[in-house]
Amino acid sequence: MAIYLDNNSTTRVDPKVVERMLPFLSENYGNASSETHEYGRVAANAVSEARAQVAALLNCQPKSILFTSGATEANNIAILGVMRASAKGKHFIVNAAEHKAVLDPASRLTKEGYQVTVLPVDRYGSVNADDVKNAIRPDTALVSVMHANNEIGTINAIFDIARICKRAGVLFHTDATQTVGKVPIDLSDGSIDLLSLSAHKLYGPKGIGALFVRPGSPKIQIEPLVEGGGHERRIRSGTLPVHQIVGLGAACFLCQNSMPAEAARISGLRELLRSELNERVAGMQFNGHPENRIPGNLHISIAGANDEAVMMKLRNQLAISSGSLHQLPTWKVQQFAE
Ligand code: PMP
Repeated sequence: MAIYLDNNSTTRVDPKVVERMLPFLSENYGNASSETHEYGRVAANAVSEARAQVAALLNCQPKSILFTSGATEANNIAILGVMRASAKGKHFIVNAAEHKAVLDPASRLTKEGYQVTVLPVDRYGSVNADDVKNAIRPDTALVSVMHANNEIGTINAIFDIARICKRAGVLFHTDATQTVGKVPIDLSDGSIDLLSLSAHKLYGPKGIGALFVRPGSPKIQIEPLVEGGGHERRIRSGTLPVHQIVGLGAACFLCQNSMPAEAARISGLRELLRSELNERVAGMQFNGHPENRIPGNLHISIAGANDEAVMMKLRNQLAISSGSLHQLPTWKVQQFAE
């Protein structure tokens, strides 16, 4: 098998996570809502423990964590759910470098009569906090800026941007799918209102994620995308996938302990790869921010080389992905921009 270098796309489930999940696929099969019997209570307790583990990693209250099917759903709930429930206005601010799981809900909003401003990013893929400040209007209800870019690894100054939004009375959402479990995130200052994450990027299972919704006042209003049994504070109905939730909780617990050492180890390997490539391959260009970047990301361009051809040639040796900001669908930017 090729060497796996595609961890921004997905990670291997940690064997300790699998071990924690297995009993909830066999003997512990209760419904976490059926607390009238022991089976249900075991499931409910496991869900509570996992919620606390996710919250501990983010230094927030367990009740602020809502389980979803992944970051795509968390982003959709944050953007569509908040905008549709907003009494403040119909204006949403996003930027051109977001994942499709943010850009597509933004596109959906424009079809529903909302106004969307798409901010540019600089050559490192960073969003400028002043651009956000200048784009805020009296009818702006929500701003969404990803924590780190999934392709080039650049980390945005989300806490600065969140504070600008707070001062302006605008809600702030961040897609932190690429940073949770990789860099420390502390939500205790209340500046970030909504945050999306996904288990399969941090050695947990696919198909489970969470949306952090800041507790306290003013209460964040969210219109559910799915109606049903009223699970997850009526925001995300559906019988809880206990094994998946346990997996997410276990992955968060493991990351919390290993994060500092892992970040140093992985960024060390990244720098070794960078210097070896630089020495051996002519025309090598490294993309993304030189310092403000996630530990495990190296994004390269090679002058004169076609990315598909390079990947095809290496496919038996290296499992890597292509894609970059200059390939962003520019029509979207034009279509959204005012
Ligand atoms: N946002 C970002 C930044 C991502 O990298 C991904 C996964 N590629 C997603 C959202 C979607 O996550 P999920 O697979 O959990 O829906």
